[in-house]
Amino acid sequence: MGKIFTPTADDFPTTADAVVIGGGIVGVATAFWLSRAGLDTVLVEMRDGLSTLTTPNSIECFRAQFTEPPMAELALPSIKVFENFAEVIGLPGYDISLSHQGYLFATDDPGMVDDLQAAVQQHRRLGVLDSEFLDHDDLLARFPYLSDKAVAATFRQQDGWLSTHEATQGFAKGSSARYLLSTKATGIRKDTKHPGGALGVSGVETTRGTISTRTVINAAGPFAGVVGRMAGLDLPLEMVRRQKAFISPKPQIPQDAPLTIDLVQDVYWRPETGGAYIAWVDPDESPGEPAEELPLDWDYPAVVLEKLIHLNPFWEEIADDLRQEDVHPSAGQYAYTPDDQPLVGPVPEVPGFYVNCGYWAGVMLSPEAGKRIADLVTGVMDPQRNLLRPTRYAEGIVYEGDSFLRGRH
Ligand SMILES: Cc1cc2nc3c(=O)[nH]c(=O)nc-3n(C[C@H](O)[C@H](O)[C@H](O)COP(=O)(O)OP(=O)(O)OC[C@H]3O[C@@H](n4cnc5c(N)ncnc54)[C@H](O)[C@@H]3O)c2cc1C
Repeated sequence: MGKIFTPTADDFPTTADAVVIGGGIVGVATAFWLSRAGLDTVLVEMRDGLSTLTTPNSIECFRAQFTEPPMAELALPSIKVFENFAEVIGLPGYDISLSHQGYLFATDDPGMVDDLQAAVQQHRRLGVLDSEFLDHDDLLARFPYLSDKAVAATFRQQDGWLSTHEATQGFAKGSSARYLLSTKATGIRKDTKHPGGALGVSGVETTRGTISTRTVINAAGPFAGVVGRMAGLDLPLEMVRRQKAFISPKPQIPQDAPLTIDLVQDVYWRPETGGAYIAWVDPDESPGEPAEELPLDWDYPAVVLEKLIHLNPFWEEIADDLRQEDVHPSAGQYAYTPDDQPLVGPVPEVPGFYVNCGYWAGVMLSPEAGKRIADLVTGVMDPQRNLLRPTRYAEGIVYEGDSFLRGRH
């Protein structure tokens, strides 16, 4: 059973086989797999709990509907982990509130129909056999809350959402790693005792002391660039604020609906305990500094509602009667890379330093990404097979991203 605690001078670990920096879902999943591989693993988290920064601000969805092979390679096995979570973590009955209510990517633009059909064909090539292309009639028959303007969609019933809190805690509990809370990494130590005399990782300095180790994984979410600089690296990352709002329960919200995305307006909503999450992935939001506190735009929920009404007219009646206390906004940051796909794997300039960062969909990719790190650290995976290696830009092996809903065109 993993130990989650705020260390004192008496129980602060001074050595570890591997140190993970960052206790969001990505770091905790990584620590889970590293400890499962037999490594004495320590995770340091600067805040006073696991999963308290970006992860709880997501809308907690997962999908197999990717068109980029490297993303599908992470997403599909990750979904299997979510679907068999109690068994994977070894805690019978453990519940992550998995819901298979589906993902619906809908459009009212006839010019996008070919793209949607092509996306479903690409899903097939990537091993996703149960996504569907829906034309106007299918769409309205299956999802009668949609506007008659909708012309087509892709849909997969088995996509859905889960509790990120339970998933993160489950990975921690099911591991044998130690999770140090209120412990901030402040520096990466290096020495030349690596094969070939290269200047590589020798430890992690924290606000509570130094942990000697030969393996460090940077899973610091929006702060991954800051942690990279501690190792002397300039990682290609950009942070962009993403807001969302929870709308209190309303009878008009169809509770059996899937996550419904309007591909033209860049807005989406999904039901949640009688209410709903609503969001707009504003393509013009500028990159900013990594932050723990993010400002909220007072008019954001109104803008989202206005855009949602377009394909989901039932929102109009709700918007008309909405009181301020019905709207609960929040924000987190997406971490973008040049190809909008994460950085996963060792950084050759600094032996022993690994990255697992650069996510705008880190919840749904975290189980397999964490496993991949463990497989790379232990030599189970050939680094050349890892399409998400951070050296891919220099190597020219980038597969251009064209996934829907990533927020960049
Ligand atoms: C509005 C919104 C909706 C989203 N919806 C989805 C969705 O439906 N599905 C999906 O898959 N993804 C979604 N995402 C993206 C998803 O939330 C993130 O990709 C994911 O949570 C990233 O997890 P993480 O562990 O990398 O980051 P985080 O959860 O931010 O964790 C990083 C941790 O590192 C810690 N840290 C940083 N620096 C240090 C340091 N120096 N020392 C110690 N600790 C440090 C931080 O305190 C933090 O706890 C959404 C994001 C937003 C904002």
